Amino acid sequence: MSKQDNGLFSYEHTAHQAAYGDCPKCQSPFLIKHKGKSSFIGCSAYPECDYTHSLSSLEVVVLKVMDDSHCPECQSPLAVKKGRYGMFIGCTNFPECHYISYNKSHDKKDHYQAVSCPQCSDGSLQKKQNKFGKYFYACDNYPKCKFVLNQEPVGVKCENCDASVMVKLPKDNQYLCINPQCKHKQQRE
Ligand SMILES: [Zn+2]
Ligand SMILES: [Zn+2]
Ligand SMILES: [Zn+2]
Ligand SMILES: [Zn+2]
Repeated sequence: MSKQDNGLFSYEHTAHQAAYGDCPKCQSPFLIKHKGKSSFIGCSAYPECDYTHSLSSLEVVVLKVMDDSHCPECQSPLAVKKGRYGMFIGCTNFPECHYISYNKSHDKKDHYQAVSCPQCSDGSLQKKQNKFGKYFYACDNYPKCKFVLNQEPVGVKCENCDASVMVKLPKDNQYLCINPQCKHKQQRE
């Protein structure tokens, strides 16, 4: 597979690959498959490649249980795990639950800290994901307040207009003021 660097997909592939590895026969990624009540790991190139192996044969080690996290599928705690090909975050209820987190925000260094909504005073901006897997940040007072941002907000005061929220620009190491009349950029600390 060619090297891709377009965020979610590549990370998803990486987490998936860390957990399950690639098919030794044809190097396609493995998928979890279900047949009746049983689940197993099968090659994503099926039916061209019919390689499968059992879930219990995965060499996965739990490195750290994240006590304050919950699996969105079964509510068990999530854990940092090490598969044969790298680290990933998955459900401690494995193999009953196959949830794997593709959400980079579990990474401490870019963990999103909710900031208060600049439009209504009592809401805060929550990280959400749309059906295409793209993140956005919406006020939790919705539908009363419809404030939404496409870029990650930070509780940094704009030096130019005193707005209380700025957004992180993905490329340059800068913050951008959310005030459309201002559009001030300032360097991140
Ligand atoms: Zn295969
Ligand atoms: Zn789970
Ligand atoms: Zn609001
Ligand atoms: Zn400003």
